[in-house]
Amino acid sequence: MPVESPRIESRIIEVPAGADSATQIPVTTVYGARPGPVLALIAGNHGYEYPPILALQKFREQVDPDRLSGTVVMVHVANMPSFLGRTVYFSPIDGKNLNRVYPGRIDGTVSERIAFAITKEVIEKSDYLLDLHCGDGNESLRPYVYQTVTGRAEMDAAIAELALAFGIDHILVDRGRPADPARSLYCSTTAITRGKPAMTVESGYLGTSDPQSVAQIVEGIRGVLFHLKMTDSGPAPLERAVYLDPTVVITSPETGILYPKVERDQTVSKGAVLAEITDFFGQRTAVVDAPIDGVVLYIVATPPITKGQPIGCVGTPRGASPPH
Ligand SMILES: [Zn+2]
Repeated sequence: MPVESPRIESRIIEVPAGADSATQIPVTTVYGARPGPVLALIAGNHGYEYPPILALQKFREQVDPDRLSGTVVMVHVANMPSFLGRTVYFSPIDGKNLNRVYPGRIDGTVSERIAFAITKEVIEKSDYLLDLHCGDGNESLRPYVYQTVTGRAEMDAAIAELALAFGIDHILVDRGRPADPARSLYCSTTAITRGKPAMTVESGYLGTSDPQSVAQIVEGIRGVLFHLKMTDSGPAPLERAVYLDPTVVITSPETGILYPKVERDQTVSKGAVLAEITDFFGQRTAVVDAPIDGVVLYIVATPPITKGQPIGCVGTPRGASPPH
């Protein structure tokens, strides 16, 4: 895009009422002094995940348009109904998971209309995208990033470089994402299926706003800006990382009360007990084991559990070499 005068602009993307109520998406656009790519930073696709939202508040204070090449677009709270309603995973209005309904629909329910607005107004106008998450309000999570593998060499190399530039040393090799841009489901996959390198980041846990998780996201953004040559200085990319491949999300066999038996980042062997579930009278109904050797990337650590929902995720470390 042509170079605009360097400045920071605030705006609201209006999501009009449809089948259900209207909402708003607050966006900051930072126009740099020199030409360069457009980088989109998305926080709050899940509204109970606070470190990404606070990290963008902090980054907005620090960013200097006079020293920026290109444009940074920050979505401060993608899922306002979930943020203000304090809900985990699902919108309090339509019960949908925003990060499973991309690219959305103009005539859908509110989560679908939010996804549609972000796809049209932000993703399609960007060159790169970071979708910033953490463990949701119920998830005790150690930091990691998802490195999507598409099978297309140029895209995969660009995503692998983003992962190293962000600086979180646990990289989950993710081969299972959709390839159809019309059914991309996830925010980052919406970008990737439209030819824009993108990555999902996880830093933070359990509804807290701890400064370390927030700082790690700000540092990661600075690393990616430097890598994309949008700034002249920043953290260097990682030289080594722990690649997790395969990873398994373990879902609950029962509805009831969950008792986690491991901590985030704990190393477990196949067959180790991850959690026990009881019914509402205290009778044990299930014991959930680790299906593979590996590291606990996250474990649900609050009592409510519903059959079919995630209990945790275990990934097997495959050493420091990037995957092919
Ligand atoms: Zn999330």
